Amino acid sequence: METKKTILIVEDEKNIVDILRFNLQRAGYGTVEAYDGEDGLSKARETNPDLILLDVMLPKRNGFEVCKALRGEGNNVPVIILTAREEEGDKVRGLEIGADDYITKPFSMRELIARVGANIRRTTVLSPAVDTTTGAVTLAGDLSVNAESHLVFRAGKPIDLTQREYDLLTFLAANPNRVYSRVDLMEQVWNYGYVGDDVRTVDVTVRRLREKIEENPASPVYIRTRRGMGYYFSNAAET
Ligand code: CA
Repeated sequence: METKKTILIVEDEKNIVDILRFNLQRAGYGTVEAYDGEDGLSKARETNPDLILLDVMLPKRNGFEVCKALRGEGNNVPVIILTAREEEGDKVRGLEIGADDYITKPFSMRELIARVGANIRRTTVLSPAVDTTTGAVTLAGDLSVNAESHLVFRAGKPIDLTQREYDLLTFLAANPNRVYSRVDLMEQVWNYGYVGDDVRTVDVTVRRLREKIEENPASPVYIRTRRGMGYYFSNAAET
């Protein structure tokens, strides 16, 4: 299902571009190339890459100017600055103007590919993809939520939840894999202090929520039970 990620290479030395393209493509990435800062900026805007490898010393506009311009436009694409070993101040300067990482030349291809992967993963976690039809953000698996409309979707279809069910789901999902006791949930989601048998309310709400969001409510994958302890939201949809 995962679509191919695209890397924009902005580098004026053709032999470096060639070796980057070859290795990135072999690692499963698509590539776009630019040989000067001006063209790098246009291609960043036009092709909306998943990451930019950005050389510092470039014709027309240098790497810092390109990065600064992108950040000024609110573009948060991960940027890895490629800098020569002797350009000591470049690292600090690059990070100051909003680059995510830097790598010094000559670099090992293995390290570069690892950094590319790490920086793409980091942004995927930080800014989950918003579904353009539902405006919803994925919680886990086929479950998504639109926090503005308070709508939860399963496989793109809205689910009819009560306010309490919605509150319980979003509370648990905000802290995946953290176990909450029924007393905790009573206090956090219902805003009640612990009053005797009221914790049964939590069990009932969990059961109803499971009936609505789980494929098989008897064997839930999202809202799970930690026996004797409480409930938690699992974002590892397969298990
Ligand atoms: Ca250069």
